[in-house]
Amino acid sequence: MAEFGLPKYRVRQLETAMYGQKVADIREVTTWPKELRERVAAAGFCVGRPEIVETFRSVDGTERYLIAGNDGKTVETVWMPEGDGGESGDGSGEDEESSESKKEWSRATICVSSQIGCAVNCQFCLTAKLGIIRNLTAGEIAGQVAAVLKKHEAEPGRDRINLVFMGMGEPFLNYDAFMAAVRLLAGPMEIPESRMTVSTSGIVPGILRFAGEKVRPKLAISLNAPNDAVREEIMPVTRKWSIAEVIDAVRLVPLRPRERVTFEYVLLGGVNDRVEQADEVVKLVRRAQFPAKVNLIAWNPGPGVPFAMPDAEGVARFQERLRAQGVPAFVRRPRGRDIYAACGQLKKTGSG
Ligand code: SF4
Repeated sequence: MAEFGLPKYRVRQLETAMYGQKVADIREVTTWPKELRERVAAAGFCVGRPEIVETFRSVDGTERYLIAGNDGKTVETVWMPEGDGGESGDGSGEDEESSESKKEWSRATICVSSQIGCAVNCQFCLTAKLGIIRNLTAGEIAGQVAAVLKKHEAEPGRDRINLVFMGMGEPFLNYDAFMAAVRLLAGPMEIPESRMTVSTSGIVPGILRFAGEKVRPKLAISLNAPNDAVREEIMPVTRKWSIAEVIDAVRLVPLRPRERVTFEYVLLGGVNDRVEQADEVVKLVRRAQFPAKVNLIAWNPGPGVPFAMPDAEGVARFQERLRAQGVPAFVRRPRGRDIYAACGQLKKTGSG
C-alpha cells in the first residue's frame, strides 16, 4: 500500500477481505474503490485462496483434503466435526455450551500441516516416509484454514473452531512461517490463540523461542515413550534432545491461567503400552512440575509401518493407571481412520 501511496487502513481492509471474507480475487475486495482494485491488479498483484483439489470423506464425518500449495504440490488438512476429544482437560473450556449453529456440527477441529513431508522420522508415522519435501509459507499454512472454513461456511466469530498444528511436518522446524501463520489466524482471521494447539516432537530451540511469544497456541509435546531408551527407538530425535531437556525447555513457557501442557502418547502394542511404563510416565509428569495432562492415542495402522495396535483393554488399563496416580489422562477418539486421516497417517494416500 505504501508503494501505491495509500494510507494504512487500506491494508486492514485488504486483510479483512483476504482472511475474514476469504476472497479469491482482488476484484472482490469491495471495500476498495473499483479504480484501486484495477490499479493494483494491473500492477500484477493477486490474492488467492488455496484450492482443495481432492476430498476424502470418512464414515465418521471427518474429511481429509489435498490442498494445492503455491507450486501445485499438495498438502494435507483434516476437518473433524465435533473434534477428537484432544482438548479435554487442558483448560480451553471444551465443555462450554456450543454456539447456536444449525449445521450438522456445533464445533469442529481443523488439523493443519506446516511442511510438505517431514524430516523428523518418527518410526510410527506415515508422513515420515516422505522425508522433507519443503517448508510451507505462512500464507500456505493459514490458507489451509481459510480454504476449509470457506468450504464449510464456518465463521470463527460464530462457530467454535479449534486448530491443531499436528498435520504433516514439524512446526518448530519451520518456526518463522508457522508463527507468522499463527498471527494471521489470531489476528484478521479471529481464531483465539487459546483454541489453537501446536504439537512438537521436542525441538528444544523452537520451544525456547516459543516461550518468548506474546501470541501463541497451547503446547503439546509428542512424548510417546516412558524413557529415553524406548523413545530413541521410535523417535530418533531423542538422540539430539532427551526427554529431560525437552521438559526443562517447556518449563520456561509461561502458561496462561488454567492452561495445561499436553503430552501426546501414541500407544504402540507391546512397545510402550505396559502398565509399568504408565508408572514411568507418571514420574515424568510429576517431575515436570507444570500443569500437564496426557492424551492417549491408540496407534493408527498404516501400510509399511511395522507396529501393532494396542488392544482396547490395554488402552483403558494404561489410562486408568495414570488417572489413579493423579495424572489427567484422556483417550483421543481416532477420526477418519478409513480415509487415512488419523494421527500419523497423512501421506497423500490418494486412493482413500
Ligand atoms: S509424527 Fe510428526 S514430527 Fe514425527 S515424523 Fe510424523 S509428522 Fe514428523
